[in-house]
Amino acid sequence: MLIDTHCHLDPQTYGGPDGVDAAVARAQAAGVTRLVHIACSPDPAAYARAAELARRHPGVRFTAGVHPHDAKEWTDEVADAIRAAAADPAMVAVGEMGLDFHYDLSNRDVQRAVLRVQIALARELNKPIVIHDRESDGETLRILDEERAFDVPVLYHCFTGDRAHMAEIVARGGYISIPGIVTFKTATEMQAVAAVVPDDRLLVETDSPYLTPIPFRGKKNEPAYVRLVAERVAAIRGISVEELGEKVMANAERLFGG
Ligand SMILES: [Zn+2]
Ligand SMILES: [Zn+2]
Repeated sequence: MLIDTHCHLDPQTYGGPDGVDAAVARAQAAGVTRLVHIACSPDPAAYARAAELARRHPGVRFTAGVHPHDAKEWTDEVADAIRAAAADPAMVAVGEMGLDFHYDLSNRDVQRAVLRVQIALARELNKPIVIHDRESDGETLRILDEERAFDVPVLYHCFTGDRAHMAEIVARGGYISIPGIVTFKTATEMQAVAAVVPDDRLLVETDSPYLTPIPFRGKKNEPAYVRLVAERVAAIRGISVEELGEKVMANAERLFGG
């Protein structure tokens, strides 16, 4: 049994709601019994669609938040929509939120401010935080510290940092999620990270529809392929994929609260 802790099952990407349902069914057929759909959008309709998806599929949980790419779209109304979404027990975290200095699709000061306000919101709601950190050179972690984000569980999704940065996050109680990049031959530092993340801090994800693992690279990613990520990480750690799946499921339940 496996969980995909981070995927974006948006209908426009999968050919409508039926296409999303088909992707969930393929995941279940592959033993991926649980998945966390990341509804990161400044459009509150995305949170309502996510709640609807979770109602249709008992194994689906969802988050609500605003991606750093869209930080410029943040408003008080969006904050209220996240609060409203959090009343649903299937809403398990706020995010993904963070800093993306690779694409810089929102002004950096706006990204910083919207990260701070979403950390405060997660603390107010007592919900875990899903972090997206791309090329912020440690600034994301500094802001998390300043805002006391680690008072709630913190998950770094698609972790692309090195072992030293991983250790800093883990020392604060944070979780590390390994994506399909770990299957790429060139991803040697990520493979080194995947070898040493403590057993009780490790998660795996697809980040569907992006970052499709080998051997499906070039195709659209989907939650069923988290098995390929899990197989690679299990091989790196010298354990069976079943054992890895059990650990990851236990970690996800502790982090997200079941
Ligand atoms: Zn991300
Ligand atoms: Zn994502």
